[in-house]
Amino acid sequence: MGTSTIEVQNVHKRFPDGTLALEGVSLQVQAGEFVSLVGPSGCGKSTLLRILAGLETATSGSVSLNGHLPSAPQSRQDMAFVFQEPTLMPWKTVLHNVALPLELRGTPLAEREARARRCLELVGLGARAGAFPRELSGGMKMRVSIARALVTEPKVMLMDEPFGALDEMTRQRLNDEVLGIQQATGATVVFVTHNMFEAVYLSQRIVVMTPHPGRIAAVLDVPEAYPRDARFRGSDLYGKRVFQVLQILEGHPAPPDAPAPLAGVPA
Ligand code: ADP
Repeated sequence: MGTSTIEVQNVHKRFPDGTLALEGVSLQVQAGEFVSLVGPSGCGKSTLLRILAGLETATSGSVSLNGHLPSAPQSRQDMAFVFQEPTLMPWKTVLHNVALPLELRGTPLAEREARARRCLELVGLGARAGAFPRELSGGMKMRVSIARALVTEPKVMLMDEPFGALDEMTRQRLNDEVLGIQQATGATVVFVTHNMFEAVYLSQRIVVMTPHPGRIAAVLDVPEAYPRDARFRGSDLYGKRVFQVLQILEGHPAPPDAPAPLAGVPA
């Protein structure tokens, strides 16, 4: 394993209305790792991701990205956030939407358009650079949103349930694309989802969270060969890993480092 990129130490988050969204959360994510946060609605997944992004601050505890606070200029350079909604500018073309973060950074026009085109190629939308968002399907819009996140060449990608609104086939295709992108860029990814299948397919480790207050119930290794492909989706082990996550959520935690084959899971 490489050096730790993300360090979360004993983080508590209490909102002004008194809601304790996170209690005693500690987590390390290594450089280049793909980690998912899973758990039922309200367990603090988005809050934790937003704290990593510097969009919220922890009430106590510490968070660092490559040794910097999430709000530090270096962290803002190093990270990109992909929201649940693609949030594209309807009046800008696909190319100009993708180039926008570079425009905001003052990158010269020719360079930002060249980089935006490369990112559109990476998400399979090279031919749609001149289209407007209204001309695209939901899956394509999400691809544009991912291309826009990639354009700054982030070391860390924080993804907040990006495929929740998509149909199953599109979601699976985009899961494969995200794995391809992660391999190509070497980015560290923290991915929020409440879909256990998606989490198992994508992740090298799964952080299983439980609500009231939001806590980490277990951190599960998914040691199967990486990146994954259709054979993994069809394997028995895939279903068993999903079952293992569900068992933890139902209060029957397997050891966090349970080796395969899985103890306590029917064959
Ligand atoms: P998840 O992403 O797992 O669904 P969230 O992180 O969105 O969970 O929310 C965790 C808890 O914090 C929930 O009880 C939610 O209602 C509460 N919460 C989230 N944002 C706020 C806020 N801005 N003010 C008050 N409570 C909030």
